[in-house]
Amino acid sequence: MPENASATSSATSPMQSSGRSSSRRHGAPNAPSKSTTVRQRAISLGDATITYRHRVSRRARRLRFEVRPGNGLEVTTPPGVSVARIEAVMREKTDWITKMLVRYAQPPLSVVEAPLQSGALLPFAGGQLRLELDAGRPGRRKAAAMEEGTLRLFLDSMSPDAVRMAIERWYRRQAHYVFAERAAHWNAQFGYNYGRIAIRDQKSRWGSCSRQGNLNFNWRLLLAPLVVLDYIVIHELAHLKEGNHSTRFWALVAEKCPDYRDQRAWLRQHGPELHF
Ligand SMILES: [Zn+2]
Repeated sequence: MPENASATSSATSPMQSSGRSSSRRHGAPNAPSKSTTVRQRAISLGDATITYRHRVSRRARRLRFEVRPGNGLEVTTPPGVSVARIEAVMREKTDWITKMLVRYAQPPLSVVEAPLQSGALLPFAGGQLRLELDAGRPGRRKAAAMEEGTLRLFLDSMSPDAVRMAIERWYRRQAHYVFAERAAHWNAQFGYNYGRIAIRDQKSRWGSCSRQGNLNFNWRLLLAPLVVLDYIVIHELAHLKEGNHSTRFWALVAEKCPDYRDQRAWLRQHGPELHF
């Protein structure tokens, strides 16, 4: 899924992710169900022996490969696909699998250069903010202020955790304004109706659109380039018309975001880095 912080590959189009849910709420991990069985297997690829989980799902239409941070490689197939067939495809994809396993074996890098102290530059909705930290003054303390490209936070504690949490709180508040503005901007072209906009904090979902037409967005997108944030806004708005990931849905997205494939690729590659 485009909103998902993991790498996927399918047998029919090696470097593109495939849709894996036909519902509007998407990006959730595949929950085990009665129609699914999972086996642990191993294969020699190049110089390495790697283990992978083989998931057989009656809902699967083709071979699908997924690598998630900290979760290794999972292969999902329809019933009746032989291990020989799976491993033949894996050998064709050795480079991709090896690259993804290396990437996701590491703790995700942050787009924000540590440490979080005065003078640090923080990405914000395609621009940058300069961080200034001030000791809090009891009684007449301001929580935060932003002016001329500087985010000033007033804190009782300067511990790294306290600083990070204060910055996240500020970003989450700003996310309401930014996503409301971007949704209004793009919807002026679509002309749909949507309900409320909620801001979420999730590791692996960038956005969703409920059946009632409410939109949810992940505040961490404020750390991404604006074109990427806009792609997710356009994606969720397009779900107001097309509930699944059909050809018609992607055509609608492409009208407003012709290079959406680039933005999806950016998110697959850099999504895990979008944190403080
Ligand atoms: Zn979607």
